[in-house]
Amino acid sequence: MLRGIEINNTVCCLCNRFDEDEYHLFIDSEVSSQIWQKVSRWINYTIPTWNSIDEAWLWDDGVPIINNQRTIIRVIVSSVFWNIWHLRNSHIFNDAKFKKSHVFDSIVVNAFEWMYSRFHTSQVNWTVWLQNPLNAL
Ligand SMILES: [Zn+2]
Repeated sequence: MLRGIEINNTVCCLCNRFDEDEYHLFIDSEVSSQIWQKVSRWINYTIPTWNSIDEAWLWDDGVPIINNQRTIIRVIVSSVFWNIWHLRNSHIFNDAKFKKSHVFDSIVVNAFEWMYSRFHTSQVNWTVWLQNPLNAL
């Protein structure tokens, strides 16, 4: 029992092969590795191999503050975490209606919406966002 909820197993619902801990789920699993690789190609910026969740959250500290790139990366990393969590919960509670194939597009859209609402302007251009998000501001 965990917080009153019966835990039937601790195996990752996305691969059914490894125990689900936060590092596996968000960073190291096949699904999440593929997502981070796709994000890396999209932002045209090499994402390092992280050894912990904390390293992922602190990664943008080492990114130069040029053209708000640090803020943009922080928003994108948050969007990746949020969408992997959504995918995991969809597999557990929602019959997997939110699919692996939806995750990347959802990351891009959510991060754009968060950027848009944060800056309260029309500065953030959707076309630029799709092609070169780190130069979107
Ligand atoms: Zn897994």
